[in-house]
Amino acid sequence: MSIISNLSVLNQYSDYLLPRYSNFPLGRYVSLLVVRKTESETIFRTEGSGEGLVKETVIAGVEHTRPIRRVVISKRKQTAVERRTGREVLREHDLLKKDTKGQICALNTNAPCGKCIDCMLYGYAVGGGGAQKSRVMTEDAYSIGPVAQVTERRTFNATYDNGTMRNPLTGEASTSINEDEFVLPETHFLDIETLKDVTVGELQYVIANILRSSRYGAISSRMGKMRNMLAAMIFSDTEVFSNLEMTQVVYDQLLGNNDELDFPLSDGYESEPLIGNYALAYALSLCAAPYNWSGPPRYKEDLGPLNNKGLYVTPGTFAPNGLRYALSQFNAQSDSYYFRFDQNAIATEPNKKVRATNFPQSGKIRMLGLGSRASFFLINLQGIEVRLPPYIRLGKFNSKARLKWEKLTLKSEQPVERGEQPLDFLLNAADLPPAVIPHLRAFSIYNVHPAPLLSRCHLGGNFWHCVSGAGKDVYVPAGMRFGVDAIE
Ligand SMILES: [Zn+2]
Repeated sequence: MSIISNLSVLNQYSDYLLPRYSNFPLGRYVSLLVVRKTESETIFRTEGSGEGLVKETVIAGVEHTRPIRRVVISKRKQTAVERRTGREVLREHDLLKKDTKGQICALNTNAPCGKCIDCMLYGYAVGGGGAQKSRVMTEDAYSIGPVAQVTERRTFNATYDNGTMRNPLTGEASTSINEDEFVLPETHFLDIETLKDVTVGELQYVIANILRSSRYGAISSRMGKMRNMLAAMIFSDTEVFSNLEMTQVVYDQLLGNNDELDFPLSDGYESEPLIGNYALAYALSLCAAPYNWSGPPRYKEDLGPLNNKGLYVTPGTFAPNGLRYALSQFNAQSDSYYFRFDQNAIATEPNKKVRATNFPQSGKIRMLGLGSRASFFLINLQGIEVRLPPYIRLGKFNSKARLKWEKLTLKSEQPVERGEQPLDFLLNAADLPPAVIPHLRAFSIYNVHPAPLLSRCHLGGNFWHCVSGAGKDVYVPAGMRFGVDAIE
């Protein structure tokens, strides 16, 4: 029997899922990477104690290694909520079974049925002995930001009906002055739920429970609203990285060169600063595209001739300390006197409805700020005469950028061979000579059009060995050319 999921995307991972329950572990893991975001004030306390929030001192990031305090959601708090969410559905559809005494399956009592999907997946124990181990494993979830940024304290005065702190009958002063510490709305926590040896149905059940659970923590009827988002699923035959490691890496990425994280963090993807080398070739006027052109990209026509001339330019890499950001607000405007903002569209006639368009009419954009610095290499193999412009225009808004050229000194006439050269500048994957590809030891990838860019490469092969004016050795891969034939 093979079970086909109605989520067709899961079918391609059937090797990592079981056709049916197996009583012995088979080592098939599914890790669900979950982003949890509070949508109201929330309190996570340890079991039973009347203490404040659970906090732990941990190392902030892998690169930023100072210790910080983070808010913790303990692992049991998470699955308890999600189990109850799932059991609501089971109860509604009569899918909770009866135990041996005819009692309907109930959580935290002596009457687990031992047959329903909740008992089988999340586990149960019976008073008289016997237990089913849980196949849903969780870890403590950490706030990405530090305690000081994501929490607040407030004094709650428990006032009487007459609005004062004195009992209207006895006149005695109230003693119910409490200070509560809570997690602020729009705080993000990262979490991994690891499922072992599950069927596709069990996987869908757990995912649904995560996505449908919306209240966590103490006094969750009044606060503790939370939204869970499934960021990724990893199918593997072993455990992947830990929750804390993931939080630390994400912290580094979000922090970048800033002193502290933004708060609140945006759910949206933040684009990374880079300058594609094909765009740069146009910007440098190494080639030119016509003003009026409605056909497909002209990379082959425009960049192909540069290959013949031995001219090549690498992507622009922003220096870690050369980045500034600016935030700007935009409004799309119409050129008519009358206009009206409709749902995702701008209407220009009073009595006419307009269709929604698929670009935003207003919003915020984050842009590279003044003073940001990027560098690139211009390779001129034949030493032909090239005009090196002092200024170019870049990006969506044709912003002006100043260029500072520096001529590198070639150390040897022929390329030199290097075993594993770390590179701190971006490479275009389509432009690398094919012989080099097997010698790419490590890299990160930016999936951008028209060809992916590689960063932090460790590369073996032939390099031009140059020296900068400051006496620094520079190794640039030899044989790079615009891969215009490969990207078509
Ligand atoms: Zn049960």
